[in-house]
Amino acid sequence: MSDDPTIFEQIVAGDIPARIVYETDTVAAFLDANPLAPGHTLVVPKEAYERLDELPEDVAADVWAAVQELTPRIESAVDADASNVGVNNGSAAGQEVPHVHVHIVPRFEGDGGRPIHAVAG
Ligand code: C5P
Repeated sequence: MSDDPTIFEQIVAGDIPARIVYETDTVAAFLDANPLAPGHTLVVPKEAYERLDELPEDVAADVWAAVQELTPRIESAVDADASNVGVNNGSAAGQEVPHVHVHIVPRFEGDGGRPIHAVAG
């Protein structure tokens, strides 16, 4: 694997612009540049790990704590009714950036989007 910083490490470092909405020592969250819905947010560990199983336990806990904290705040900010929260874990699953990231996609009654269980169907 390349040692070049991932796009998300460059965002965390401030070298690529993004709208950062949350930051701790280990985790950052920013608005997705190509949002599937208003408020679509990515939660990332600041250090790059490609797959979920590579995340140290404490970092995984920090990422999930951020997801839990941010999800209702994002829903409230964009007046959403619900959210899809998910990870594309590996290229066959659609992972484009090799740096674990959790998508929080706000959903609205009647928005016509598909649930996660229909994504691969
Ligand atoms: O899960 P996957 O790897 O396919 O998602 C990558 C996500 O990263 C996409 O939703 C894309 O819009 C987002 N992205 C971003 N800013 C970048 C590059 C990609 O928000 N500079």
